[in-house]
Amino acid sequence: MLNVIIFGAPGTGKGTQSENIIKKYKLVHLSTGDILREEMRAESQIGLAAKKFIDDGQLVPDGVIIDLLFDRAAKHKDIQGYIFDGFPRTTVQAEKLDETVERDGAPISLVLYLDVSEEELFKRIMYRSQHSGRCDDTADVVRKRIEVYKHQTYPLLDYYRKQGKLKTINGMGTIEEVFEEIEEVIDSYLGV
Ligand code: AMP
Repeated sequence: MLNVIIFGAPGTGKGTQSENIIKKYKLVHLSTGDILREEMRAESQIGLAAKKFIDDGQLVPDGVIIDLLFDRAAKHKDIQGYIFDGFPRTTVQAEKLDETVERDGAPISLVLYLDVSEEELFKRIMYRSQHSGRCDDTADVVRKRIEVYKHQTYPLLDYYRKQGKLKTINGMGTIEEVFEEIEEVIDSYLGV
């Protein structure tokens, strides 16, 4: 199993690079942001409860996210691995993920950290907002999401650095350049 976490602030290109990774390495993409947007479109109970946090740029409570993620993960059988995108975002989530994947004998292999400057993040999300239709891509909410990332999610880098799993990728290049760097890291992990 190849279990990869793609890590980075909002707007670093995690979704785009996940698409490239799943194509090449045949992994299952688990994006908590995408799952939540699906739940909101379906107007499910979870979706409606999550919307308040998402619209405000805050994190959805750990308990809700953890149940949602493991519920989705359990639907996939006989797979080569997962790419976790937008999860974990807190220490509680990271510890729960480790506990679960280790129990299943398939620990996290790599954490790919897409490193992008703060001004660039802001520019990219504002550009994306022109066609994303996302209610949380407005200037005020984006600023809030970046602050929430800095306080609640960024500290996880240290958690994975200590485990020796963190690989920093320069996220400032083109989509192709960033993916080439990702391929090098994954191929070297796989020994190919
Ligand atoms: P994303 O598409 O990953 O930027 O996620 C959009 C929004 O969904 C975030 O701003 C959070 O409100 C919520 N969200 C997504 N993933 C998580 C998570 N792992 N923990 C808590 N909230 C999340």
